[in-house]
Amino acid sequence: MDKRVLLIEDEPGLVMTLTDRLTSENYVVTSARDGESGETRAAEGSFDVIVLDVMLPKKNGFDVCRDLRQRGIETPILMLTARGQIVDKVVGLKLGADDYLTKPFEMIELLARIEALLRRAPARSHASGDAYTFGDVRVEFRRAEVQRAGVAVELSAKEFQLLKYFIEHREAVVSRDELLNEVWGYDAMPTTRTVDVHVAWLRQKLETNPRHPQYILTVHGLGYKFVG
Ligand code: CA
Repeated sequence: MDKRVLLIEDEPGLVMTLTDRLTSENYVVTSARDGESGETRAAEGSFDVIVLDVMLPKKNGFDVCRDLRQRGIETPILMLTARGQIVDKVVGLKLGADDYLTKPFEMIELLARIEALLRRAPARSHASGDAYTFGDVRVEFRRAEVQRAGVAVELSAKEFQLLKYFIEHREAVVSRDELLNEVWGYDAMPTTRTVDVHVAWLRQKLETNPRHPQYILTVHGLGYKFVG
């Protein structure tokens, strides 16, 4: 799967340049233009690396970094700071950033730092190329095939898309509304009950004990969380 980068930066020119370049390197880029919205996106927990500017509207990068770490978000963070602010480096690393880069920087340097962070990051997933495994389940994305203990499992298109969305957002709480929007889209008119029914079907097919799921968990009042 392509690596997901969250870019929290308020300079439009830099956002555009970085997005273009990272996209051309097969990263999936999401950007946020201020500290508050960046933190909200980061807390969803579905990114492989966060590029975080220090000087941001609403909430500065140091505070965002500190608060993310306090909330238990362990996504690697590369901080961007202005030239010569050596104190920034010390503060940033103390607050839980993994690396820092001084502006202006060469794009090649940024890419190298991101790659290094991704290599250093603990294996968050069991993803290898196009496949993902959890428990005795193996999901092959490109072929849209799922096996359990080596035996093919029949999933409907929606079940597969739902499972894929869960895997892509593993460890994050996803609401029923989010699933409706992202998996079903606006063209259909399903209800949140539709989501629950599909989740129940997935559990039937993939969980050892569907009544006590290990992987597709219910987060009461909020939605679901995939762990695996
Ligand atoms: Ca800035």
